[in-house]
Amino acid sequence: MNHDASRSTTSTVVGIIVPCYNEEAVLVKTVPSLLSLLQRLEQQGDIGEGSFIAFVDDGSTDRTWGLIEGAASAKVKGVKLSRNYGHQKAVLAGIETFYTQADCLVSIDADLQDDLSVIEEMLARFREGFQIVYGVRKERSSDSFFKRFTALGFYRFMELLGVHLVYNHADFRLASRRTLKELVRFREVNLFLRGMFPLLGFRTTCVVYDRQKRTEGESKYPLSKMLSLAWDGVTSFSIKPLRLISAMGFSLFLICLLLCGYALYSYLALGAVPGWSSIVLPMYFLGGIQLLGIGIIGEYIGKIYSEVKQRPRFIVEEVVGGERVD
Ligand code: UDP
Ligand code: MG
Repeated sequence: MNHDASRSTTSTVVGIIVPCYNEEAVLVKTVPSLLSLLQRLEQQGDIGEGSFIAFVDDGSTDRTWGLIEGAASAKVKGVKLSRNYGHQKAVLAGIETFYTQADCLVSIDADLQDDLSVIEEMLARFREGFQIVYGVRKERSSDSFFKRFTALGFYRFMELLGVHLVYNHADFRLASRRTLKELVRFREVNLFLRGMFPLLGFRTTCVVYDRQKRTEGESKYPLSKMLSLAWDGVTSFSIKPLRLISAMGFSLFLICLLLCGYALYSYLALGAVPGWSSIVLPMYFLGGIQLLGIGIIGEYIGKIYSEVKQRPRFIVEEVVGGERVD
């Protein structure tokens, strides 16, 4: 196996990691599409013979695992997780299981919304010496207005918090074995891979592509999962929300001092009794701010709680395909 990207192109072994959650409807197309891509790249001399596709069954309740097992061969490997852990952990499970068997891994969604031909371009960049190649969507017309709007808001917010993310990059990326060796040393349980890869450093680049609409099955990312991923992104990469609370608290304290001065002045100079609103409104205002602050701190404590337990991030139940069957 060749572990050096700059050497002869034909021996570059690539693994394609595909997380799957209830994807029986798309797998029937995805398996042959990926296999023919692999075959073509092999014939062109772009990749080495040991290259493979690895499907990660993220606790599906449909025939997904059956289809993966049925397709298992030297070229098609499969990992079955013991239950549903979520997209990010499924991708990581694929990476952890297979990164030592390839020179680079490409992660791609099972629904093939991402353009397969881009993998060729990613490999070309890898051979030029780039260690991480991000797939970046040219535009997001295949998304609903709501998804586009919330995604943009999220990127802007993360920027404000000082977190570096690659715009319009989902989890379609190539990463070298060298970088993955470092990635698996990150031990966090609350995963946000899009934030973790840029932290690795190394030489990185982007390739731009058009994303299609999902043709079969439905999105496994309902609003609740999207929000939870976004919140993991915020709380795992920034403590600015906590600082914001301190800043708010301090500003309110200053305002309060000014109000005290004013109250004293009005009492002495005007002899007036402060009105109802000046008592009740600040009470609600301060109460609200305090509860918000406690809530945000609570979220971070919750994150610390789940991190310190150090539970395994996922449990692999079974591995099939390839020479190595565990
Ligand atoms: N997925 C997964 N576990 C989950 C949810 C999703 O492994 O709990 C996989 C899913 O099978 C797909 C990828 O993650 O391959 C992205 O999901 P999807 O295409 O539904 O998301 P969208 O493209 O709508 O954001
Ligand atoms: Mg999709």
